[in-house]
Amino acid sequence: MSDWQKILHEGVDTLEKLANRFGHDVIDVEALKPAFDNFQMRITPAALAQIKEVGDPMWNQYVPTVQELEIVDGVIDSLDEDGDSPVPNITHRYPDRALFLVSPVCATYCRFCTRRRKVGDPEKIPLNQYDSAFAYLAEHAEIRDVILSGGDPMMLSDRRLEYIFQQLRAIPHIEIIRIGSRITSHLPERITPEFCEMVRKYHPVYMNTHFNHPSELTPDSVAALEIVKALRGWTSGLAVPHFVIDAPGGGGKVPLLPEYVEEITEDEVIFRNYEGKRFVYKQPRQVAAESGCDPLAPAAQNDVVPIQIGKKAASRSRRRRKTGS
Ligand code: SF4
Repeated sequence: MSDWQKILHEGVDTLEKLANRFGHDVIDVEALKPAFDNFQMRITPAALAQIKEVGDPMWNQYVPTVQELEIVDGVIDSLDEDGDSPVPNITHRYPDRALFLVSPVCATYCRFCTRRRKVGDPEKIPLNQYDSAFAYLAEHAEIRDVILSGGDPMMLSDRRLEYIFQQLRAIPHIEIIRIGSRITSHLPERITPEFCEMVRKYHPVYMNTHFNHPSELTPDSVAALEIVKALRGWTSGLAVPHFVIDAPGGGGKVPLLPEYVEEITEDEVIFRNYEGKRFVYKQPRQVAAESGCDPLAPAAQNDVVPIQIGKKAASRSRRRRKTGS
């Protein structure tokens, strides 16, 4: 077992371990049990270190709640990724790029995960169904950019990752490989010299990551973000990350810039995606009020669910592929 795998096992993955870590006096084990019976949970040592107290933003990001069992609104596949999936493990939404799910597991599980219908379940992201995915990518010469995701691809061994890189690099039209990973926050020990040595053979390979709260910004992360800031003066905006939301129902990425936001009211935020389609999010307070919850209760404050999404073409299988970002 490698060092990062040992560190992974030092994390918290049961209610008992969570209570032992934070104290049985502050955690109501009986009350939380239904949530732990229903949801995947694991928190790595690095993510645990970001939790300063029970109920703080980092706690809320990782610890399941019973409120999650009360489904008020929403859809299982909120980004409609399965609607754009021609073969298992592939989502092909934009013409020039494809999402390739390669790992069913994550180092730490996030409560906000839009793919929780699959993540944590090896049957839903099967490791033995790569072949049809590679065949699809090879057959579609318009695909030049492949985003590896899951789950977290960095949970795979270097050997398996290298196999994936080799297969992708054998397809001439694939120019860019991206890895979508939260390992930077959750398990930085996974970025080993051996991994770096291996991955450099398959460049260009990029890693997309994200942070949801300032508490995740460890000194190393801040140093990395300073690099992003400095890039502005030295390279084009193409290389600089932007803040976007992923529109519900497969609307795609929408930058939160004035020209995309049509209106913000007390009740709704209305914006248009790159195709001009209109999307409406309810403001959280109204969702909470309609659900009959106390709008100021912590769980309700966190509820943001789509109520109305842009109309998609009736048949997803027949519709043309979109263009855009
Ligand atoms: S790391 Fe990504 S895939 Fe895994 S639970 Fe968090 S959001 Fe979902």
